[in-house]
Amino acid sequence: MKERVIALNIDLLKRLCETPGVPGREDRVRELIKSESEGLFDEITTDPMGSLICTRRARGSGGGSKAKRVLLLCHMDEIGFYVKHIDSKGFLRVQNAGGFDTRNLFARRVRISTREHGDIIGVMNPGGRPIHIATEEDKKKIPEMKEFIIDLGLPAEKVNEMIRVGDMVTIEEPFIEVGDKLVSKCLDNRLACWVGIEAVRGIEKAGVNHAADITVAFTVQEEVGLRGARTSSFGIEPDIAIGVDTTLACDTPGVPEDESVTVQGKGVGIGVMDGSMIADWRLIEDLEKVALANDIPVQRTILPRGGQDGGAAQMAASGCRAAALLVGLRNIHTVTEMADRVDVQAYRDLLTKWLPTVE
Ligand SMILES: [Zn+2]
Repeated sequence: MKERVIALNIDLLKRLCETPGVPGREDRVRELIKSESEGLFDEITTDPMGSLICTRRARGSGGGSKAKRVLLLCHMDEIGFYVKHIDSKGFLRVQNAGGFDTRNLFARRVRISTREHGDIIGVMNPGGRPIHIATEEDKKKIPEMKEFIIDLGLPAEKVNEMIRVGDMVTIEEPFIEVGDKLVSKCLDNRLACWVGIEAVRGIEKAGVNHAADITVAFTVQEEVGLRGARTSSFGIEPDIAIGVDTTLACDTPGVPEDESVTVQGKGVGIGVMDGSMIADWRLIEDLEKVALANDIPVQRTILPRGGQDGGAAQMAASGCRAAALLVGLRNIHTVTEMADRVDVQAYRDLLTKWLPTVE
């Protein structure tokens, strides 16, 4: 295969990754996507749960009421927390929204987004003794979520004045570029938000006709059970739905090769099966055909547990044909989620080329 020239709108991805939005509090991410989608879609609406529904009608011959409806689902939420309790000393306790491995939560900077006092930075650690005075027992223990405390460095009175139960908490970590890779705390799933915009931008820029109506649903609350995807799919009733998300790339030391799920640099993943759905095999073949014709690297992938929005769309109303397009991340659901540029470019290019072929 010839050397690929990588050209990605990194600036947009960085801004998406650095905008906080936990399940149920996707508002800021939605506003950013809305402003970036200017001129790409014919209709942009927000549904009752908060998903942003962007539709670009068919272009060229065909179209009208007979046009097929193709839906991309790109969830906006990132795993995060809600303030659950403020104790008498002013330390916060949090409830997680989405799946965290608590081993990855030691010594984190966090951002608490308040209603009236803006965003406040704090630090999060499990309660207990530091290494110098820890017992052997202490060292072996993996703390539970409820043992983590956030310290704002302020007296209780002041904390109570500024923070309310229900305020959103996100991990504070900048987007960075590392070698050939991209690193952020929430490539899952701002990478899909990015590709939902960039793929349609590619079609608009090239002035390519498409016979199908294309809807990109930037959904809410995926990380707590594909909730926004369920309702928005019922509203749209697509003929074809693609869950656009990330998956695992366990191609690093410590994991057997047969459990890698995807291998970085081998292209965008086409999901065959996961905990939420079995993809339509004809759709998989269609995607592969387009990839082959355009020299875009792809890899088939199966995830034994876990799911994505395509699973909800597949079973909405009377159902639809569904597949998933996934970029494999190293260190998923940690602050060092890492994607390979080759895979990210393949993600965008495959959607840009495949969408116009749907009829
Ligand atoms: Zn995801």
